[in-house]
Amino acid sequence: MAGRPVTTGPVTRFAPSPTGLLHLGHAFSALTAAAHGRFLLRIEDIDRERCRPEYEAAISEDLAWLGLTWPRPVLRQSDRMAAYGAALRRLAPLCYPCRCRRGDIRAALSAPQEGAPPAGPDGLIYPGTCRGRDMADAGPDDVIRLDVGRAFAALGVDRLSFRDQDGADHPMGARDFAATIGDVILARRGMGTSYHLAVVVDDAAQGITLVTRGLDLFDSTWIHVLLQRLLDLPTPVYLHHRLIRDDAGRRLAKRDDARAIRHYREAGASPADIRAMLRFSPSAP
Ligand code: GLU
Repeated sequence: MAGRPVTTGPVTRFAPSPTGLLHLGHAFSALTAAAHGRFLLRIEDIDRERCRPEYEAAISEDLAWLGLTWPRPVLRQSDRMAAYGAALRRLAPLCYPCRCRRGDIRAALSAPQEGAPPAGPDGLIYPGTCRGRDMADAGPDDVIRLDVGRAFAALGVDRLSFRDQDGADHPMGARDFAATIGDVILARRGMGTSYHLAVVVDDAAQGITLVTRGLDLFDSTWIHVLLQRLLDLPTPVYLHHRLIRDDAGRRLAKRDDARAIRHYREAGASPADIRAMLRFSPSAP
């Protein structure tokens, strides 16, 4: 007897943080992911201070209302600290503890005659003040940073790249990485991990083969590719989709409650209305 046919197609995910209500931008992201493969939901709740169970419940409700389904149980990052700890230990030889606060970094970076200090996808480009420190000296008030110069040297490469859904290759050289992204944080103060490390570990653990996410995260993707190489994890294909903006052209954020899916639901909109509002088309998101 033949069992169920083996379906091999892309595995996608939507990975919201339960720090507010989902808005139209999230709906677009989730619909895009679901249109491109087997859809998984992941709750990115490593920031325990900002995440709320009621928002997590609202996420499931709003996605179900939109017509999406996903396998249960849902992976929750707060249950995955051991996996992040293991990845961090593996990367420790390429890391250092850093005690600099944002003000220290800003002061180290700013020449009075120049404008705003350079920032990348992980915030201000870290000037390297703590780079010589040893991991054995890491204290509870430190963050853990990856020394990207040592990381590229350990890999023996001077560039990385990822492929997008259309087959285009997006390269990034080691020097550009250091200049435009810098020594990224792998463990935030008191958190044991960071967004970047957790995402990479979980995309691999969940077998995600196509990461669909907003263009605002495009530059973060190189960080993830570097971590995948260092941890011997596969690099998925990426699809960075357009951003949903408000009338003033600003990207929607959690504070935009007026654009919350919940708000439209309560005002009588249907899931089809939301798709129309987003000009969502499954074939050309
Ligand atoms: N949790 C991230 C967010 O809400 C999503 C990330 C991703 O696609 O990697 O923006």
